[in-house]
Order: sequence, then structure tokens, then C-alpha cells
Amino acid sequence: MEMSRQRINPSSESGSFIKCPHCKGKGLTPSVEMLGLGVLRKLRLETMKDKVSNIKVTVPIEVSSYLLNKKRSEINDLESRIHIRITVEGDINMMPGESSVVCE
Ligand SMILES: [Zn+2]
Repeated sequence: MEMSRQRINPSSESGSFIKCPHCKGKGLTPSVEMLGLGVLRKLRLETMKDKVSNIKVTVPIEVSSYLLNKKRSEINDLESRIHIRITVEGDINMMPGESSVVCE
């Protein structure tokens, strides 16, 4: 009995490499400032939604410290303008560019 076997061609590079998850293959990763500004933009969009009283945003730790240290007034501004609470949290396991926004 003959078994058919799938051969993996060792000389083929396809499948051996994946795009770098940090820069998505571009070789460049956005600066913390750019990531932070992106999160702020996202927050502004979320605050336009109806019936949102709490927004929790989780971002990589560098981005959260950038937001909390440098963009605190913008965040406070958003909070007071529409009476919501914004919580910014840092996650050491998140990669640059990742963020999660939870609205309640
Ligand atoms: Zn990369």
C-alpha cells in the first residue's frame, strides 16, 4: 500500500515567514505619539455615540503613559464636555497599534 504524502518544499520561502506583527511588514512602527493620537481620535468618535457614560480604553503600556502624561487635559476635556468617564489602561501584552475600547 502506498501512502500519498504531502511534501513540504524546504527551499520554498512561502509559509516560512509571516509579516512582522509589529509593523505589518512595513519595517516601520508608528511612534507612541502617533498611536496615542490615534487612540484619542477613536475616543472622540466613541463619545459621539448615544448613551455612553463610560469608556474604557486599553492600549500598550507606552501609549497609556503617553496619554496619561501628555494628553491628560484633552481627555479631561472630553470627559467634562459630555459628562462621561474615560479610563485609560495599559496592557503590557499589547503590541503597538493594538487597542481595545469598551463603552457602556
Ligand atoms: Zn516589524
